[in-house]
Amino acid sequence: MKTIIEPFKIKSVEPICFNTKEERVSILEKANYNPFSIHANDVLIDLLTDSGTSAMSSNQWAGIMQGDESYAGSPSFFHFEKTVKEITGLPIVIPAHQGRAAEKILFSILGGKGKYFISNTLFDTTRANIEFSGAGGIDLLCEEGKHPTVPSAFKGNMDTGALKKIIIEKGADNIPMVIMTVTNNSGGGQPVSMQNIKTVSAICKENKIPFFIDACRFAENSYFIKLREEGYANRSVTEIAAELFSYADGCTMSAKKDAFANIGGFLAMRDMDLAIRCRNLLIITEGFTTYGGLAGRDLEAIAIGLKEVMDEHYLQYRIRSIEYLTNKLIAAGVPVMQPAGGHAVYIDAKEFLPHIPVEQYPGQALVGALYVEGGIRSVEIGSLMFGKYNAAGKLIPSQMELVRLAIPRRVYTQSHIDYVAEVVIEVFEKRNSIKGLQITEEVPMLRHFTAKLKQTP
Ligand SMILES: *Cc1c(COP(=O)(O)O)cnc(C)c1O
Repeated sequence: MKTIIEPFKIKSVEPICFNTKEERVSILEKANYNPFSIHANDVLIDLLTDSGTSAMSSNQWAGIMQGDESYAGSPSFFHFEKTVKEITGLPIVIPAHQGRAAEKILFSILGGKGKYFISNTLFDTTRANIEFSGAGGIDLLCEEGKHPTVPSAFKGNMDTGALKKIIIEKGADNIPMVIMTVTNNSGGGQPVSMQNIKTVSAICKENKIPFFIDACRFAENSYFIKLREEGYANRSVTEIAAELFSYADGCTMSAKKDAFANIGGFLAMRDMDLAIRCRNLLIITEGFTTYGGLAGRDLEAIAIGLKEVMDEHYLQYRIRSIEYLTNKLIAAGVPVMQPAGGHAVYIDAKEFLPHIPVEQYPGQALVGALYVEGGIRSVEIGSLMFGKYNAAGKLIPSQMELVRLAIPRRVYTQSHIDYVAEVVIEVFEKRNSIKGLQITEEVPMLRHFTAKLKQTP
């Protein structure tokens, strides 16, 4: 087989700002060892997130110029609405300025004290919006998903036995919704199988519980189904996505992921009563129903991006490029999550830095080392992000200490990725010299965004 090439050519470029290792040591220190405090111009390769960081196509930019900015009834809205309906088969489409805005509207209406939302794994903003409403969120990830370095085809699946049990335990009346995240972002970008979606949907129907999809990476998930699930090899991604949505009562979506847009999101559903309540709240918080917090040009870019993302040359390149980096790291002995997910490579920092105890945040220490060595910005997904304290003030660590290298869509070429692999491997070779960190300042909620740290002596 020949090399899988980037399925695009480059018309417009942005320079990368180079700096030296010595400069990066002092930049990191000034940023208090927190990548969120580093200025983007001081980063060579930015793998902080794949959200809103995609390169738009020339068609999307042309759409930006054609966007119609009418307050009500913009043709850009109707283009957007038609596209979402075509892809999902869901008849009601409500735009929002990003995924969490759609979540806020949905959970403000359905949430509240004594309610439970069930998921394979709730994304952090999803969980935060559920908990902010007073409700609880319960993750029922399948067993395979809990072992980062043991490969399996669909590690994003929900444990359907546990779902049946929890419905009996909590009572169907107290479960306003089951939400399937595809691919499972917080669980390593691992896909969910069509069979699992079908089974969960059937359990929900039996119990009259609405079933929604958190569809941020629906195209990547559909492509994994094509590659890995029996009976789908000859189906198009468009057909697979349509089947996937056919089992759902609705979805939330961040257009900053699989729509190649820099901003945007939506809610889509079948239930008109729920839609009326959502639209009422939309008008108070986001804007009128035909723009929902977005400019007409954004709606246009999203509509075009949603079609482009299902191009199978693109998806082949996308999934392959994550696998390419993962395999290079595996070959060098670097402990990473396996198999490769859809949008990011996850390094197991606990295994990478066994000499740093979890109380000294090995993930964050590795994030700092990657930045200093090669100007690569990544993010810790471990005890800095999820750790809590017990009554005695002792850290209750997160289950895993991961470092995520999220790959923006259509932004970096293979030589950028080769460079990333070289830097990670170089850091791996001198891992014994990496020091742990301690927190000097933090806030009680979502502390990882603003925490200040320093190196341990
Ligand atoms: C990004 C993301 C969201 C939230 O979307 P925003 O546009 O960032 O608000 C929700 N769920 C998942 C799975 C995501 O990846």
